[in-house]
Amino acid sequence: MTFNDNVRVDTSHVQKRSGGARRGGLAVGGGSIGLLVILFIGSQLLGVDLTGLATGFSSAGGGSSSEEVVALDNCKSGKDANDNQECRMAAASDSLNRYWASQVNNYRAPAPVVLFSGSTQSQCGTASAATGPFYCPPEEAIYVDVSFFETLRSNYGATGGSLSEMYVLAHEWGHHISNLIGSLDQAGRESGATSGSVRLELQADCFAGAWVGAAQTITDDSGVPFLQPITQSQIDDALSAAAAVGDDSIMENAGMQVDPDRFTHGSSEQRQKWFMTGYEQGPTMCGTFDVAASEL
Ligand SMILES: [Zn+2]
Repeated sequence: MTFNDNVRVDTSHVQKRSGGARRGGLAVGGGSIGLLVILFIGSQLLGVDLTGLATGFSSAGGGSSSEEVVALDNCKSGKDANDNQECRMAAASDSLNRYWASQVNNYRAPAPVVLFSGSTQSQCGTASAATGPFYCPPEEAIYVDVSFFETLRSNYGATGGSLSEMYVLAHEWGHHISNLIGSLDQAGRESGATSGSVRLELQADCFAGAWVGAAQTITDDSGVPFLQPITQSQIDDALSAAAAVGDDSIMENAGMQVDPDRFTHGSSEQRQKWFMTGYEQGPTMCGTFDVAASEL
């Protein structure tokens, strides 16, 4: 999607963390353990940490003292968002906040949206490049590793594009919405094609689609829409990203047999289907916990 150049962007809900945090703890990208790394990424990809102590996060503590929190003061307009990835995340966050405030009673913004690269501390543990973007329920915070977008293209075969990046952010926002409306508590921790975790992930995809479907109507305080009407090729990019992070696609990518009993996020086809359900029909149709297994 393309931002209108003159839309004004409020960056107050977004922060960038840079420098400081040590890499290490988690071995990332080591050749001989490539498969393990891929499996780990698969298990966490676009995930929500339900426990606050998820496996795979190293425990919190250390490494954060020299981390710097930076405001995104350079992101002022839609033009900045079109030119710069971090500003794009900030502008999309502003739009997402305004959209969901109009859809959810007693809405609270995520506190905050954290952009990082490398690693950073969260109340859910130390996030690293291997963690991927995630939502941390105890903080109600969204963590987006901006280097993940390149991983999505290079390792998972997504076509890329600005909407695929915003789909990732909107998906994590979807977990926040599930938290606010109580469905996150229903999810449980078991895996499997019809499990609560799959239903939760598909709900987040549906919520992401709902925002994309409404995005061109959401305006800044002066009435300027954030985004220009979406094109088919941009929708295709978002669907490509949704397919790339399907459990079957991740397992195939890792050279494994596709095993639906181990699904945690849903198949590529399901992720696309629920994104389109939200896109075409809005958030009230995102009741993934209410549909029969055959309709997932
Ligand atoms: Zn997720």
